[in-house]
Amino acid sequence: MRASHASVSIDRYTAAAARSTIPARPLMIHYDLHAHSTFSDGLLTPSALVERAAARGVDVLALTDHDETEGIKDAGDAARAAGITLVPGAELSVSWESHTVHVLGLMVDAANTVFSAGLASIRSGRDSRAVKMGESLARAGIPGAYEGARRFVTSDRLISRSHFARFLVEAGHARETRDVFKRYLTQGKPGYVAHAWASLPDAVAWIHAAGGLAVIAHPGRYRVTATGMRRLLSEFRDAGGDGIEVHSSSHTAAQFTEYATYARAFGLLGSIGSDYHGPGESYVDLGGLPPLPAGVDPVWTRW
Ligand code: AMP
Ligand code: MN
Ligand code: MN
Ligand code: MN
Repeated sequence: MRASHASVSIDRYTAAAARSTIPARPLMIHYDLHAHSTFSDGLLTPSALVERAAARGVDVLALTDHDETEGIKDAGDAARAAGITLVPGAELSVSWESHTVHVLGLMVDAANTVFSAGLASIRSGRDSRAVKMGESLARAGIPGAYEGARRFVTSDRLISRSHFARFLVEAGHARETRDVFKRYLTQGKPGYVAHAWASLPDAVAWIHAAGGLAVIAHPGRYRVTATGMRRLLSEFRDAGGDGIEVHSSSHTAAQFTEYATYARAFGLLGSIGSDYHGPGESYVDLGGLPPLPAGVDPVWTRW
């Protein structure tokens, strides 16, 4: 056993275990490389998520909880039982210029200590941020939001804006979680609290330390100009970043084409991810996105 893997216990679901289950029929494999479970802000447990993916025809699913890998073992067990491949992953919260950017780590060895310490450092600020979000909402006339959001938390290790969104819907401040973000919790709105996440080079380095590939999630969601997007992708590539999500549930069909062009122009691999959070909250279900266009090298050619 290599020194860097000294802390891997045999009950972990490792990248090597994942690779050994990839089916040998490359053209027909159906990928979904971005999904959340109850270990972050998803509504399904890891095993329910995997079973749903398998039932919907997904062959290779990545579990990418926010700043967290605790669901991978259960998801890996469920994937073995369902006969599909579970790619161990996480979605890292990053601060870049004035923006929050999400970077997926795919095919990571979650037990790597550089990686797990990095994720722990990102998670550590979340609770104090949530307390401040509650105070901000109280000033806007909505008391008890921190306690309310906590009731929707499904892992003690992680509270997110999604949990506040679910509370705000329950309390009648919006019809559904999508509406919440238009009125609350985003920059300039009540309940928004600026936060310093990981740096872009650190996030990429942690993912690489764990043997994974670093992929910019849902690039179409960032409110940047074309120049800003080129700057982001240049800095990401200079930091060693590997790919971008071309097909994301956050993208329109026009954006599929736009980000395929960016992938080719920047020499980045392409990925597909539904970013599924659960029934009733996600427009695109597991496995619901089309295959990558020709001319984009898929991220899985490198694992
Ligand atoms: P956080 O990491 O705590 O800032 O929470 C971010 C999460 O909030 C994202 O991963 C999404 O699940 C959710 N979210 C952010 N913006 C929106 C939106 N406009 N509509 C629905 N969910 C959103
Ligand atoms: Mn989320
Ligand atoms: Mn995201
Ligand atoms: Mn996500």
